[in-house]
Parts: sequence; structure tokens; C-alpha cells
Amino acid sequence: MQYEAVIGLEVHAQLLTCSKIFCSCSTQFGSEPNTQVCPVCLGMPGVLPVLNKKAVEFTIKTGLAMNCKIAPYSRFARKNYFYPDLPKGYQISQYELPLCEDGYLEITVDGEERKIRIKRIHLEEDAGKNIHDASGYSFVDFNRTGVPLMEIVSEPDIRSPKEAALYMKKLRTILRYLGVCDGNLEQGSLRCDANVSVRPIGSTEFGVKTEIKNINSFRFVEKALEYEIQRQIKAIKNGEQIVQETRLWDAQAGKTFSMRSKEEAHDYRYFPEPDLVPIVIYSDWIEKIKESMPELPDFKIKKFINQYGLPPYDAEILTEEKNIAEWFEEAVKLGGKPKEVANWIMVELLRLINEDGKDIAECTLKPSQLVELIKLIENGTINRNIGKEIFEEMYKTGKAPESIVKEKGLTQISDDSVIIGAIKEVISKNPKEVERFKNGEEKLIGFFVGQVMKITKGKANPKLVNEFVIKILKEE
Ligand code: ADP
Ligand code: MG
Ligand code: ZN
Repeated sequence: MQYEAVIGLEVHAQLLTCSKIFCSCSTQFGSEPNTQVCPVCLGMPGVLPVLNKKAVEFTIKTGLAMNCKIAPYSRFARKNYFYPDLPKGYQISQYELPLCEDGYLEITVDGEERKIRIKRIHLEEDAGKNIHDASGYSFVDFNRTGVPLMEIVSEPDIRSPKEAALYMKKLRTILRYLGVCDGNLEQGSLRCDANVSVRPIGSTEFGVKTEIKNINSFRFVEKALEYEIQRQIKAIKNGEQIVQETRLWDAQAGKTFSMRSKEEAHDYRYFPEPDLVPIVIYSDWIEKIKESMPELPDFKIKKFINQYGLPPYDAEILTEEKNIAEWFEEAVKLGGKPKEVANWIMVELLRLINEDGKDIAECTLKPSQLVELIKLIENGTINRNIGKEIFEEMYKTGKAPESIVKEKGLTQISDDSVIIGAIKEVISKNPKEVERFKNGEEKLIGFFVGQVMKITKGKANPKLVNEFVIKILKEE
């Protein structure tokens, strides 16, 4: 019997608001423990939460980007449980009336378009962080308590670990385009719980699922799901029952482990949050938010292919980050040929940025400078290899390409007599190679061209060098 996997993801995204969801404490990451707390987020008796409007706006934005219905009327609910990082003894979340419902997100898997439905997006508060010290003591940092968290729940429409990772990547890209979440997986701004079950291929019923908690990388989502799917198939083949439970991924062991039996909704004693009024959203606010939305990655990919004539591969890479897509478009607007600009970004700029671990926004190199550099190559002032050198220099210093050319004396040598002189010099210094060439070793042309480029410090016009080398060698 062949089995297939059924997967649904619950993704938690920390929102990029300046302050927490129900108080004015800062949400900044990495501060000294317990320096960003107040009576509200510490859950002192008698305090009252006040909703952060920006958090609602960000959630609506996300809902719109993911094709959801925005609820005109929604409300918060209390989810009761005890844990040391949850000082109130309950989490304010949403339950029966979430802010967004019934959306979808499209991903491309092996060239095939797949629509993954989104069940709901709701708003809640994050919990604090338990730190288990090597000394045997445990500590609690409440800085994260009350940071706004959006939970995006998919329908069980995902069918493979690879699809799950692609879905999560797409989701992250959209959140970053919208500017509602920084998508930083290492810092935990984006985390994922993966629900998975298996069933015989052809069956329409779902199997019993397990949930793998708190996965914080695309690779781990894939790995954890691959492991868990195989574990479930093996168990079923052995005649065992899958138990509904919460499991943890151990990256070092490459295995999932049972953490606890699955809690049911009724275990949480959900009830409407009495300290907050329901949220009523008017359509004019939704319209305003719609107007403020940027062009999203799917739109940009199509635009880059249709309007700029880029190959789909280039379009895909250049639209992964909004900043890069905009940098590209700016350069094209200034007169750069789209494919030429795309090549410079993909080959040179992205490499330099990745090496530095930088964001393109922090980069001093401006699109206008790339366009100028391309012009210098096109009009023959410099050759392409020197262009690469100048590009790196521009990237490092932010200087204009022309001034780098002048400063370093990199102007291309296109003067015939200088090039011929250099070729003669190379020929007289390498009589053996000339002999071999005469005896039919045509491939030595490359050697002579290389030597000429070397003595002209890479500045000779390579096209002319090539032409003259062949001509002069044949005359020898
Ligand atoms: P629960 O009430 O157990 O938390 P939900 O209906 O809220 O379950 O779904 C939680 C997540 O699990 C969703 O992303 C959903 O798509 C996914 N899911 C639900 N049933 C299954 C199943 N049988 N196999 C895999 N994933 C599932
Ligand atoms: Mg659930
Ligand atoms: Zn606070």
C-alpha cells in the first residue's frame, strides 16, 4: 500500500509594531532581560489591556495579501493555561471570531501552481521566554510577553515536506513585503507548528495527525516532516495506532520526540475576553489599508517577466526581497537594460551583500551608479572585467564609477598601436609557444590573449586583442 502525507501549518509571526499589543512597552529584540515590562504585560491584578491599533492594521494587511475575508466583527478570547512564562495564567488570543478567514496563498511546486487555503489569521499576545541555565536554575525573561503575534493557520492542503517549506518561504516573503514582520527565523520572529498525518493514496479521509512544535527553519520543516511521515507510515504498517500528540523536533538526533498528549480546545476553557471590547472594522478603513499595500511578489514576478522580458528564473530571484525588486526597477527606470541590470544584481550585488550579511537598503551603492557603469562598458570606456572591479569598488566606497576609472587609470586601451605593441612584446618573449602555435596548437591563442591582458593590467579591449593576436600570429 502507498501512503500520502496531509500537512497543515500554523505559523506564528511577531508583528513589527514599536510597542506591545496591550501596553506601551517596547518590542525591541535583544535587550537586557525584564527591562521592557510593565504591570500590564506582567499580568498584575487590576490592570487593563488597551489594544494596539497598528497590530490590527498589520493583521488586516496580511489578511488582504492572503486573499482572506476581513471580519467586520471579531473579538478576543481568553485561553487559559498555566506556564511560568505566562504571568497572567491566560493568553489573550482569538477563538471563535478571528480577524481574517478563508484565504489562500499560491506556491509553485516543480513548475506546478498549487493553491494552499488559509483557514484563519488571528491576533494574540506572545508569551515570555524560559531560560534553562546550565547551573540547574531556570529564569524567565518577560520582555517578549505581550509582543503582538499573528497566527496564520492553513487548511490541510499541503502534500509534501517540500511544499510545506515553499509555503513557509512564500509566507515569509509576503510578510516582509508588507513590512509587518521581519521574518527572522533565528530570532524567533517567525515560527511554525507543523501538523501531519498520512493516509492510503486514494483515500478521502484524513488520518490521525501529530503536531511538531516550534520549528524555526525552512530546512527543519522539511526534515522534521520527512522523518515524521516515515515514522507514521512504519507504525501503521506495523498495525499500530497513531496517537494524536504534540511532538518536538530534535535537529541533532534528526528525530521527532513525543512531548505531550494533544490538548483539546476545551482544555483551555476559552471564553470571550471581558477586559476588551469586540473589534468592529469599517470598510473605509479596509479600503485605506488596501491603498497602502505595496505590489506583492506574485504581481512583481509577472511584471518582471511580461514588462521587462526577464526569464522566470531571474524574476523569481529578483522578487524574493522587496528591496531588491525595487532597486532593480529603479535602475531600469534610469535607463538600464533589464537583463543587463538583472545580471549585475544576481552575479555581483547579491554575492557582495550575502558575504557582508547586509540588506540592500544599507548599501551605499545606488541604482544610478550601476546604470552609469553599464554605460561606460557599452561605450567602450572600460571592458567588462574592469567593470566588475569597479563594481566592487563602488559597492565598498559609494564612489561614482567615472571617478574610480580616473583615479585608478582603468580606461580601456583601444589604441591599435598600443595593443599591437603589447602583442609583439609577448610574441618575442615566448618563442616556444609561437613555434607550437605554428605546428597547429590553435588553442594557444588563449595563452597569448591572456599574456597581453596581463601586461596591459587587464585594460586592453579584449575584442581587439583577440582579433590582432590571431592576425599577427598567422603572419609570423
Ligand atoms: P486542532 O483543533 O487540533 O488544533 P485545527 O483544526 O485547529 O486542529 O487545525 C490545526 C492545523 O492542523 C491546521 O493547520 C490544519 O490544517 C491541520 N490539520 C487538521 N487536521 C489535519 C490532519 N488530519 N492532518 C494534517 N493536518 C491537519
Ligand atoms: Mg489549533
Ligand atoms: Zn508592558
